[in-house]
Amino acid sequence: MKYRVYGVAFALLATMAVGTAQAAPPKVVILMIGDGMGFNQVLAGGYYQNGEAGKLPYETPDFVRLAVSTYAARGSYDPEKAWSDPAYINKGCTDSAAAATALSTGVKTKNGQLGLGPDGERLESMADFMHAHGRAVGLVTTVPITHATPAGFAAHQMSRGHYTDIAKEMLLESPVRVIMGGGHPDFDDDGKANGETDEAERYQYVGGRETWEMLHDPARSGWKVIQEPAEFKALAEKAAGGERVLGVMRSYSTSQVARAGHDDNLRDDAPYETPRRTDVPPLADMALGAINVLKDGDGFFLMVEGGAIDWAGHTQAYGRMVEEMVDFNDAIAAVIDWVNREGSWDNTLLVITADHETGRLSGPDGARDMENAGKGVLPKGGYQAKGHTNSLVPLFARGQGTDILKKYADEQDPVRGAYLDNTEIAKAIRDLWK
Ligand SMILES: [Zn+2]
Repeated sequence: MKYRVYGVAFALLATMAVGTAQAAPPKVVILMIGDGMGFNQVLAGGYYQNGEAGKLPYETPDFVRLAVSTYAARGSYDPEKAWSDPAYINKGCTDSAAAATALSTGVKTKNGQLGLGPDGERLESMADFMHAHGRAVGLVTTVPITHATPAGFAAHQMSRGHYTDIAKEMLLESPVRVIMGGGHPDFDDDGKANGETDEAERYQYVGGRETWEMLHDPARSGWKVIQEPAEFKALAEKAAGGERVLGVMRSYSTSQVARAGHDDNLRDDAPYETPRRTDVPPLADMALGAINVLKDGDGFFLMVEGGAIDWAGHTQAYGRMVEEMVDFNDAIAAVIDWVNREGSWDNTLLVITADHETGRLSGPDGARDMENAGKGVLPKGGYQAKGHTNSLVPLFARGQGTDILKKYADEQDPVRGAYLDNTEIAKAIRDLWK
């Protein structure tokens, strides 16, 4: 703990010493979160996509690589026990609400809470902070728009389960300009008519039936609602400034993981065995579409979540998890490509990380690392648990401000190396405005 305090003080001194070099805050901050994405999820995706490790678009020397601790309020991470006591890592885990709150506000809270501290105190969300500093804000996910991770960046609620209230806060009160993801009341997870007969349940993710109907009248709501894959694609292809855009894909919950062929024990299904749906957008289209809405002003903050890496982990659907890693990696590649093409790494910070690991994904017989089985083949290994773990998660960062992230990473793990805490990601981003 002492070390961390010294580290922060040191980081601040160093920041002040740099002086004018830090005077201009970044124009663009993009935070990409693989929900449930531990080191082995990244490794599995890389082996599957490339047939070898180290070839993902964020595994180049341009990227700083660190690890991140994820525990919630009153938790801890002990690097020695993590690798010596097999049971240790399954205990004291964060959920996505507390983790999103930490990444958004820089404060650890209780599991289940969004944008509120342990005693229920209101915290400044990333959306509030960025809006106050003249940055447009976008939140994009493959799961419902009001699910814990996007909600943690804009909402202030005692329970992540209060979807209707969360939706109303995000859509009607928060400054967020672009919101995209699932949660459509009219469709199920195969794009067929939603069989949910309970009206409150059916409309929960979009703020209830009345809110949803009101949203379709741009004059009243101020939102432009898009739903069709072609609309997402069109937005991904050209600039469309000025409007607030709400993209709700044709899926009640998530884009792909819960489509047909799925059950709760899909341990051995191959990726793409059941073809991916084509009536929902890939995450890359949503990310680029959001950028095209946000980019015209004085800069923006965008959170992009590969939300169902976690969902696949909870049901140990290993093949589908790998599909979700590919979808997330494609979105990251599209974002990097956009910065190279239209932006500048001198005034852009891109951070890729996770909120926690899910499923204790391990190599064969519980080995530490996945084992490569070649391109297009599921790497050897599998899940060891159905829940979250307290493992460190990876962080990759490029652009303005990576030096600050490195300074916060003043703790050492014997396997993962230098790590920072999830709250310090939010702090490092805020430091760029000091
Ligand atoms: Zn989870």
